Amino acid sequence: MDFRLNEEQLAFQKHCRAFAVEVMRPAAAEYDRTQAVPYDIVKKAREWGLQGLETIQKMGSDPDGLYSVIYSEELHYGCAGLALAISGSSLAAAGIASSGTPEQIARWVPECFGLGDEIKFGAYAVTEPSARSDVRSLRTTAKRDGDEWVLNGTKVFISNGGIADVHVVVATVDPELGHRGHASFIVTKDTPGFRQGKKEDKLGIRASQTTELILEDCRIPLDQLLGGVEKLDKKLERARSGQRSGASGALATFEITRPFVGASALGIAQAAFDWTLDFLEGVEDEAGPVLDQQRVQQVIADVATEIEAARLLVWRAAWMGRNGVPMTGGQGSMSKLKAGDVAMWATTTLMDLVGPEASLADHPLEKFFRDAKIYQIFEGTAQVQRLVVSRMQVAEHRGRKTVDDETAAAAQEGVGSIVGDAAQAVA
Ligand SMILES: Cc1cc2nc3c(=O)[nH]c(=O)nc-3n(C[C@H](O)[C@H](O)[C@H](O)COP(=O)(O)OP(=O)(O)OC[C@H]3O[C@@H](n4cnc5c(N)ncnc54)[C@H](O)[C@@H]3O)c2cc1C
Repeated sequence: MDFRLNEEQLAFQKHCRAFAVEVMRPAAAEYDRTQAVPYDIVKKAREWGLQGLETIQKMGSDPDGLYSVIYSEELHYGCAGLALAISGSSLAAAGIASSGTPEQIARWVPECFGLGDEIKFGAYAVTEPSARSDVRSLRTTAKRDGDEWVLNGTKVFISNGGIADVHVVVATVDPELGHRGHASFIVTKDTPGFRQGKKEDKLGIRASQTTELILEDCRIPLDQLLGGVEKLDKKLERARSGQRSGASGALATFEITRPFVGASALGIAQAAFDWTLDFLEGVEDEAGPVLDQQRVQQVIADVATEIEAARLLVWRAAWMGRNGVPMTGGQGSMSKLKAGDVAMWATTTLMDLVGPEASLADHPLEKFFRDAKIYQIFEGTAQVQRLVVSRMQVAEHRGRKTVDDETAAAAQEGVGSIVGDAAQAVA
């Protein structure tokens, strides 16, 4: 076992950190204030080789599986909102890659990024006002009408909503079948009947646009059903005849992808930690330099230890996923759960340590604190991660090596599916 990064990994980490510090940090406060779409930063990320199709391909080239988590952590070290604006399109691309036919992948994945200098965006739309953590109750419908699908419904909290060129929309073709009646469709931004709804004014990750999406008699060609009609018909037939689909790949897929989300949270925690040490350097009170005081050292040690523990979980899960080691104990979900909780706890704890200055917009710590919260909410909430880990631990304890469909469906709650698909593509 060797925990050291190799030369290529170290060079990649350094490159990502340079982009985070030199390009993202100086722009972060302004985009956080205005919530404008950071086209210029996304374009720069492309120029630095940190955005687009080639970047995704690079992630898969590391046999240790660490490029992806290094990338996520370092870009989030710069600014979580900008990082999501840069990397968010990969969710749609991954959804296409995991469900589409080879022809659909070749046609639509490049449309999520644009080629050469052209910048395009993708969005992945699952969440609805009445289908949140429990995606089994999706109400957006897709009905076949001759050579077209007709989609109706409202999606909420969609990253890249309103700016995406390509949207992967998950809808139900048979509500009675629950999650087994779902299918994914490609909807392009200029489709009649498709429009952006409310743009959300958020607590954190404000450089990443989040909106409602509204579909009203939105007609799309038949071939924009991902995977094709024949495959869908077979799936529906199996579900209607009550056949089980065997051990679900979904649960395994989410395990593979959750470490990337955990790594994002880690980037925020590490940024908050580093900023705090810099800020406290040279600060003195009546007891002397604060960094020499034992009460302060207790806190610094705890925060550093928690961050390191979360990073070890994230790296281990990333390595397991890349090397096909089954995460039957929920190791992927554990890493996201731990890193999300650590980011929220660390930013809160460091604010307490710094004192009132920490809450001022003059310093980035209050922004790190605001940005951290989302990592306990999206891509499967912390509570949902706990359900998944608990169920997998119990199943493993009982000696089962696979979990049944019902458990897998529970694990799909929330937008975990987005990350699952993303990892699938990256892997
Ligand atoms: C900024 C942002 C960006 C997003 N981007 C996207 C996107 O691009 N695409 C997309 O489809 N969605 C997106 N989402 C939606 C996101 O994935 C959902 O917020 C997520 O599914 C969780 O749903 P919820 O927050 O509505 O929680 P709810 O499902 O409403 O749950 C409320 C609370 O109850 C808890 N809870 C629910 N069920 C249980 C249970 N069984 N046991 C214990 N506790 C439970 C939850 O953990 C949560 O704390 C985004 C959300 C945000 C805020």
